[in-house]
Amino acid sequence: MIKNKKLLIAGNWKMNGFKKNLSVISLLIKYIKLKKLKSSEILICPPNTLIDSFSNLAKRSKLLIGAQNCSENETGAFTGEVSPSMLKDSGAQAVILGHSERREHQEESNKLIHAKAKNSLKNDLLTIVCVGESLIQKKNQNTLRVIGEQLKKSLPDKINPNNLVIAYEPIWAIGSGLIPDNADIYKVHSFISNKLNSRYGNKSKKIKILYGGSVNKKNASSILSIKYVDGALVGGASLKFSDFKAILDFCN
Ligand code: PGA
Repeated sequence: MIKNKKLLIAGNWKMNGFKKNLSVISLLIKYIKLKKLKSSEILICPPNTLIDSFSNLAKRSKLLIGAQNCSENETGAFTGEVSPSMLKDSGAQAVILGHSERREHQEESNKLIHAKAKNSLKNDLLTIVCVGESLIQKKNQNTLRVIGEQLKKSLPDKINPNNLVIAYEPIWAIGSGLIPDNADIYKVHSFISNKLNSRYGNKSKKIKILYGGSVNKKNASSILSIKYVDGALVGGASLKFSDFKAILDFCN
């Protein structure tokens, strides 16, 4: 697999994991060390409660640790919120924003995601902004329109392209075992690449575009070989070391 960008394989643990899962991280660190990955980066985003202990374990390794959300505010009277600088303080290097589960359950709007992305970029976190269409939007052939709007409204004008990542996650593919065919993934990823290019010009060449939604060991190699796919955002298959390793085996 020859790519001009480093692949990023990110694990989104969602609301799963306890201190007892530290062993997954230790195994991952050992694996990454042995494999001497040159063209890939690996990131795990556990719940906030585990960021400190995971990042301590990963300190001298190439494994990155990130969060799944952050506040649009810096500090102050925002009960229950955690700011990008606090995430950094506990060892996070990255954050996932605008995941469809948050857009749905927490009713996060493009406007809010825009403010969060601005804040997280300002704090130098690797910022993964998720976009994706629902099944109804897909059936009505609205995929590109929806994604175009999400990109336009959720991304700030001022970016550091080294710290911005887009994740294309069709909502109907998340946790369902269903995935778009390769031609559809290519179509959406090249659309995203064009949109980024017209907005950010040359800078856009550095922005990675990940695919997410039911990535597993059976489909990873084929998905990762698609042009404009610069990595994967993996949910379920990132929770168990053997499943995640089977995906990482395709990376170098
Ligand atoms: P999945 O989740 O791999 O379990 O489909 C992906 C995601 O929600 O990021």
